[in-house]
Amino acid sequence: MSAPDAIVIGAGHNGLVAANILAEAGWDVLVCEEQSVAGGAVATAEVIAPAFRTDLFSAFYPLAAASPVIRRLDLAAHGLRWSRAPAVLTHLLPDGRSATLWQDPAQTAASLATFHLSDGDAWLRLTAQWERIGDRLIDALLSPFPPIRSAAGLARQLGMGELLRFARMAAQPVRRFGEETFRGVGGPILFAGNALHADLPPDGAGSALYGWLLMMLGHSVGFPVPVGGADSLVKALIRRAESHGAQIRTGAQVASVQVNGGRATGVTLQSGDHVTARRAVLADVAAPSLFEDLVGREHLPVRFVEDLANFQWDAPTLKVNWVLDRQIPWTDADARSAGTVHLGVDMDGLTDYAADLSTRRIPTRPFVLLGQMTTADPTRSPAGTESAWAYTHLPRGLRLKSRQLDAHVERIEARIEAHAPGFRATVRARHVQAPADLQAYDRNLVDGAINGGTAQLHQQLVFRPVPGLGGAATPIDRLYLAGSSAHPGGGVHGACGSNAAHAALRRDAFGGGAKQLIRADLMRRIYR
Ligand SMILES: Cc1cc2nc3c(=O)[nH]c(=O)nc-3n(C[C@H](O)[C@H](O)[C@H](O)COP(=O)(O)OP(=O)(O)OC[C@H]3O[C@@H](n4cnc5c(N)ncnc54)[C@H](O)[C@@H]3O)c2cc1C
Repeated sequence: MSAPDAIVIGAGHNGLVAANILAEAGWDVLVCEEQSVAGGAVATAEVIAPAFRTDLFSAFYPLAAASPVIRRLDLAAHGLRWSRAPAVLTHLLPDGRSATLWQDPAQTAASLATFHLSDGDAWLRLTAQWERIGDRLIDALLSPFPPIRSAAGLARQLGMGELLRFARMAAQPVRRFGEETFRGVGGPILFAGNALHADLPPDGAGSALYGWLLMMLGHSVGFPVPVGGADSLVKALIRRAESHGAQIRTGAQVASVQVNGGRATGVTLQSGDHVTARRAVLADVAAPSLFEDLVGREHLPVRFVEDLANFQWDAPTLKVNWVLDRQIPWTDADARSAGTVHLGVDMDGLTDYAADLSTRRIPTRPFVLLGQMTTADPTRSPAGTESAWAYTHLPRGLRLKSRQLDAHVERIEARIEAHAPGFRATVRARHVQAPADLQAYDRNLVDGAINGGTAQLHQQLVFRPVPGLGGAATPIDRLYLAGSSAHPGGGVHGACGSNAAHAALRRDAFGGGAKQLIRADLMRRIYR
């Protein structure tokens, strides 16, 4: 393909979603991926032992299963099958109690009622509200900002008073939301732990919305995993894109984006090859890298470059993968059924952990997110064994030495051992991914950031990646930000890639030139 219509830089799931949409619309699409394998932070390998499949990054996909973007691609027709653990998520409290999210609302209600009798009903009220507004809300969250149509539908559905109350809930810190909604500690800790799947601390504004969203998705679609490994999702995306004629070239690092007269016209590869793009360049690339390294400041408004200097990364991640001789011997029965297990801290402990991350102290009591992959999908390792991982975050800006990382791995394992005596004896082998290892595999995961930049309120919506129009368009005509640095941010939902692809299609459609003039004028006002 000498001059494709579109070049997509990066074959993360967002790049592949964009390629699917453009190829389906009849465009010639070339995807350039620098690694030897496509998928970015959706990857599986037998890194520890044969027949033990390890998801190297993301593993549970409630956002993908609920995303209208991914649903519309009908990946089942291209080989994707989902599998689920019996229980969605268990949070193990330091005092030995546990709270468990099940897809069956009555089971979750029963778990929360062990903390306070009224908390089961509180959960049932939340799930009933979700049944009314869930679909519209997902649409609103994953569309380009502002999501006028779905927000209007939501307003009609809820009425003014309920809409205002819902907006207030969404803006709350998740700790406050927990206090207002539940009387016991089980409900609040489940919501707060979910908010920390993004980097949203219990006392941070807006953390209630993210915690609430993941809890509701856990209830409605579970935390599913692709049968065989996370890479089954990527393989399905590739098969579908190729069936529409897209080309995916691995081992092709893009070194720069060519800009002529304020318009993106193609890319230059690290090999020195130039490829011209006739209609658009879409970048599944972290915002700072796209604009500073690939485009170059000289092509950007000064004010935009200044805003980009304030771009905030999310916290680095330390991940440990294990091959286990048998299931983790949790003393808590629910934890033995859960795909995801949270442990290490209670609500105050979560706040302490978040404070440690902010104040650059290595948390002595880390919050641990653990995945039991064979429990979620029996194909991940031989019967009776477990392929498991856990991760926790570290403060940004500390360059930890290997002995400090080892000590932290030891802290993680000690926390698990406390809830599962005999855990260490089940470990046949371990594999550690330090922040630098995550970045070495996927340069978007800068210092082990998992979200393409903080998900806190000041960098969401029209503030993502910098104050602007909240869409995929950039100050360069026909260049679109298609990765998780763009609204709506991290997670495997495909919305960033979809928004970019649709923006490129609209730009090229009848009337696209006039709209571009209006957009360029707005950008000039924002960045002058
Ligand atoms: C440890 C970890 C756990 C996570 N857990 C979950 C989870 O359970 N569920 C969930 O929904 N999300 C999870 N996430 C977040 C989720 O994986 C990411 O938000 C998502 O995969 C980002 O997708 P993307 O397509 O935007 O970018 P990426 O997946 O980062 O893909 C970008 C691709 O672009 C390539 N690239 C970059 N620059 C260039 C260049 N110059 N030239 C060529 N190629 C280039 C990279 O090599 C990479 O393949 C997790 C992330 C991590 C790291």
